Amino acid sequence: MRALPRTPPPSGAPPAAAVAIPELPRAEPGTSLYVHLPFCATKCRYCDFPSYPGKGMPIDAYLDALCVEIRARAPRHPRTIFLGGGTPTYLGEAQIRRVFSTIAEATGFEAGRTEVTVEANPESATEEKLLLLRRSGANRLSLGVQAMRERLLQFFDRPHDVGSVRRAVAAARAAGFENLNLDLIFGAPGQTPADWREDLSAAIALQPDHLSLYDLVYEEGTAFRRWLDRGWLSPLPEEVCRELFLISVELAGSSGFRPYEVSNFARPGRECRHNLTYWRNEPYVGVGCGAASYVGGIRWKNDARVLPYIRALERGAVPLIEQERLAGLDRLKESIFLGLRLREGVTRSRLLRETGLDLETVFDLEIRTSREKGLLEWDGERLFLTEEGVLLADSVLYSFFTQSPV
Ligand code: SF4
Repeated sequence: MRALPRTPPPSGAPPAAAVAIPELPRAEPGTSLYVHLPFCATKCRYCDFPSYPGKGMPIDAYLDALCVEIRARAPRHPRTIFLGGGTPTYLGEAQIRRVFSTIAEATGFEAGRTEVTVEANPESATEEKLLLLRRSGANRLSLGVQAMRERLLQFFDRPHDVGSVRRAVAAARAAGFENLNLDLIFGAPGQTPADWREDLSAAIALQPDHLSLYDLVYEEGTAFRRWLDRGWLSPLPEEVCRELFLISVELAGSSGFRPYEVSNFARPGRECRHNLTYWRNEPYVGVGCGAASYVGGIRWKNDARVLPYIRALERGAVPLIEQERLAGLDRLKESIFLGLRLREGVTRSRLLRETGLDLETVFDLEIRTSREKGLLEWDGERLFLTEEGVLLADSVLYSFFTQSPV
């Protein structure tokens, strides 16, 4: 989830600037759709997503506003739909039914032809809800497992246990989900390579179709970051994190998963088409608080706060917190930043077509420097990370932003 462009604005963000809905560009039919459902059972200690413990929150009022935004902005016949959060399965069955019927009415998506992903947490992925999701057109389930040992789940403050992971996977298969992703986090303080090997093996034994394996990041605004700043946590040494990452690649690879993005592994044909849209910097519409959109070269992001979001929609406005036009060098940098995360990398001719700029001319120095260090491969058309480059992906990607282009 962390790789996706739906990060919240910094805390203390200015009040939303209400912009009339018609002022934003209308997405072409077929554009991907993201729907944000921000409510969770608890707030996990590492989480910096726009998500909130749902108890006492105005969930129905939020859904009223969300449905208004879906009707106003959702593209017709989206290629992919992704319901993320938050925890979509935190909603009750009637609420899930309402969201899906609004999406179906607004988009006319065809169940079976469109990739429709729903994020779920084990404690709320009940048999009834999974069956309802499947019957409503969802065909891909992304389960937030995060860890396969109780001690770690408690450390993360997750509201589920390992037994509920097993139950949720069985229920998902029984409901007819043939495309199942498991999200896991590695690199918690004190985790050993043997621990991670055992836990990842236990997750792979559940026979998912896709794995998202993220290293723990101490993001601003999270409980873990505060603990780190107070010296209550000792992050794993870099060389141990590196070893854990190599174990991920080795175990996933030997179990039939192909790495196609720095943190994502899929069985053949099971790559997440929705997330590929983000990494390839293709257009998408995001609705809900904190959701980002990218249409017609313009990127905008909704206010991450629930009440301002609801109030803006009640006034017939979109609660924008950011809006910018991406063109030329900015668009080139963004496409590289996102696309280099993919093992396929980025292609010169496509970037030239989209931005009018030649990758090698603009970033000759960055490409040469990273190639000399053995971090990037460049064949004159395609630029991609080497195996060593994947391990140092963040620093390679940031080098395209921090160095001045020639
Ligand atoms: S369940 Fe997911 S979205 Fe909710 S707090 Fe935990 S990590 Fe964040």
